[in-house]
Amino acid sequence: MQALDVLIVGSGHAGAQTAIALRNEGFAGTVGILGKELDLPYERPPLSKEYLLGNKERDRLLIRPASYWQQQRVEMILGRRVDCVRPDERYLCDSDGRKIRYQRLVWAAGGVPRTLSCPGAELSGVHVVRSRADVDGIRDALASTSKVVVAGGGYIGLEVAASLVKLGKQVVVIEATERVLARVAGPKLSSFFEAAHRSCGVEIRTRSQIVAVAGENGRVSGVHLHNGDIIAAQMLIVGIGIVPAVAPLLDCGAEGGNGVAVDEHCRTSLPDIYAVGDCALHVNRHARNTALRIESVQNAVDQANVAAKAIVGKPVAYDATPWFWSNQYELRLQTIGLSAGHDAEVVRGDPATSTFSVVYLRQGKVIALDCVNAPRDYVQGRKLVAEGIACDQALLGDASVSLKSFCA
Ligand SMILES: Cc1cc2nc3c(=O)[nH]c(=O)nc-3n(C[C@H](O)[C@H](O)[C@H](O)COP(=O)(O)OP(=O)(O)OC[C@H]3O[C@@H](n4cnc5c(N)ncnc54)[C@H](O)[C@@H]3O)c2cc1C
Repeated sequence: MQALDVLIVGSGHAGAQTAIALRNEGFAGTVGILGKELDLPYERPPLSKEYLLGNKERDRLLIRPASYWQQQRVEMILGRRVDCVRPDERYLCDSDGRKIRYQRLVWAAGGVPRTLSCPGAELSGVHVVRSRADVDGIRDALASTSKVVVAGGGYIGLEVAASLVKLGKQVVVIEATERVLARVAGPKLSSFFEAAHRSCGVEIRTRSQIVAVAGENGRVSGVHLHNGDIIAAQMLIVGIGIVPAVAPLLDCGAEGGNGVAVDEHCRTSLPDIYAVGDCALHVNRHARNTALRIESVQNAVDQANVAAKAIVGKPVAYDATPWFWSNQYELRLQTIGLSAGHDAEVVRGDPATSTFSVVYLRQGKVIALDCVNAPRDYVQGRKLVAEGIACDQALLGDASVSLKSFCA
């Protein structure tokens, strides 16, 4: 049976970074990355942006060139899926029935896109946006597509909408809640992005639900909404979140539910099994010490570094300040902190100029910022969020007062 000192499951950002960090820490043992996809580890953020637009080549998605993995002696075991883990005997089984023994296992399996459960959801022309292959499928079908319905007004849905409009497609975004970005941002940012998309020609329907996908000859021809409306379209792109890929770990007794539970060193409840990235359910002080999963490159990279340090015997607790970005049209949104649970929002600058920030506070302290084309606020606001600094709201709202001045 093949045996590795550290076996990493998942060849995404978190898995790749775990291997990189292990080597950077001087770990000399054997390391392997086992992943379901055939590609070497690549970045997902460009998929809904430059890659969908055709402005980024496939090779430029790679997190590291092929030569890096060879030089660093990281074995790539690609195109294989882990189906079961045997923690007591320290081995796992893949979809081909092969077994691999490990000393330490790092679970970095991310998640799979949530799909619609309504009739017609399986028709050809219904797409998701998680992997490069998903986006290749969309790009191939675009030539014969003039109108697209996007289900979900989160970051991915909106980025896809912006890209498709740039490509000359008619786009309708269907969002179930009362506003786009409702899960991740406050109402002011949501209204700004709704207005920005509408001004670029995207139709946004909030408080709307797709109840059936209509088809002709097995292909999407439109969607039926809860209110009886029918929207004709040749393509439906579903961007309604992910389900964490943790079943093999939960099946063998790991604690968790919506993700696999980890402690501050990214250790699961199973011996010598760590979990990092989108699938890791962790207690985060920026979420009022509740357990959550964070789906971002920042979290994937920082948790991977924490797991690697624990493995090499130099443990540090995970205490990163969350950050995220999203590009739509000429708008660069940069987010720091987590705004959920805020009790006040202060706008700095004028949204009409497309350069402004929203500062979120709880009990007078800054907990998060959403900065649109405002990189200085983003950089200077980091400390306010990391340290939860109390600020005068009237002063905060004055964009001529630099955020740095609140840190003194
Ligand atoms: C279109 C898109 C745009 C995004 N844009 C941004 C952005 O602008 N900024 C940002 O910060 N974040 C963005 N994200 C989120 C970010 O890409 C993710 O948070 C990050 O990729 C998570 O990395 P991960 O390694 O945890 O999971 P993943 O990248 O999902 O990697 C997990 C890997 O594990 C594999 N796998 C799953 N189950 C198994 C199994 N049983 N056996 C073997 N392999 C398995 C999967 O196939 C996958 O390759 C975006 C994501 C998407 C999809």
